[in-house]
Amino acid sequence: ILPDLKDKVALITGAGSGIGRATAVLLARQGMKVCLADLKDERLEETKQEIASAGGQAITVDIDVSDPGRVAQAFEQVAKTWGQLDMVFANAGINGVLAPIEDMEPEDWDRTLSVNLKGTFLCVKHAIPNMRENGGSIVITSSINGSRAFSNFGMSAYSSSKAGQVAFAKMAALELAQYRIRVNVICPGSIKTNIGENTQPTPELEKIKIPVKYPEGSQPLEHAPGQPEQVAHLVAFLASDASSHITGTELFIDGAESLL
Ligand code: NAD
Repeated sequence: ILPDLKDKVALITGAGSGIGRATAVLLARQGMKVCLADLKDERLEETKQEIASAGGQAITVDIDVSDPGRVAQAFEQVAKTWGQLDMVFANAGINGVLAPIEDMEPEDWDRTLSVNLKGTFLCVKHAIPNMRENGGSIVITSSINGSRAFSNFGMSAYSSSKAGQVAFAKMAALELAQYRIRVNVICPGSIKTNIGENTQPTPELEKIKIPVKYPEGSQPLEHAPGQPEQVAHLVAFLASDASSHITGTELFIDGAESLL
């Protein structure tokens, strides 16, 4: 369906699980060579196996996206292996510690911002030298939480990091247009993934009283959370020349959840 993706190279963060894994598998099925980046975990190898057994090409790099040195090394490894880079999916993220603002520890705030926002900045920074000559597509995973407040208790750090990603993507789209590097940001609603494992609610959350509690995971279109594969199709479109005139755009993929 997207023939121009064949033999192109992508680096995908958070590729061991959820949206990142589903996207890596789909891009590899379109013929892309994929560098799978995630924390060191057996799930990363599982993604690679899944791609290899379907005849695709993948390498893995274990990185913490908030670590500047490791991110730089991951990009060097892609350049060394395939000599080109056409697409980056800056997708790794955590919900982090959930706490009322008055109880949020500054180091917990910093961790969420570091992984979600600084990690995105580092991936874009290191994509540029690899894409400057031939252009490329960068896709950033934000969230519907980045553009409005929900009664997801205690997510002030997460929402701030996700709003920051949207602003950053727009700045990057303007700045990098001269190199024909497109930058878009996707805003999923609730998607069925393993993100709960990187969510640390605190007992103090009980203190937060919000009059209307948003019904968890319900979406007008499907009455249920979306699937990672549905997000993967949007990312593949943004990776492909089929979206060649789209940059600096925020795309919602939420079954109308953000309209509730
Ligand atoms: P997931 O937990 O299934 O996958 C996230 C992956 O990121 C994991 O494999 C994890 O190991 C990796 N990761 C976490 N911290 C990392 C770090 N410091 N360095 C490298 N890798 C790291 O969750 P997911 O839902 O697929 O999350 C992907 C993105 O989607 C995140 O940015 C998240 O904020 C966003 N998102 C998710 C939802 C949802 O409902 N699942 C909704 C909106 C946005």
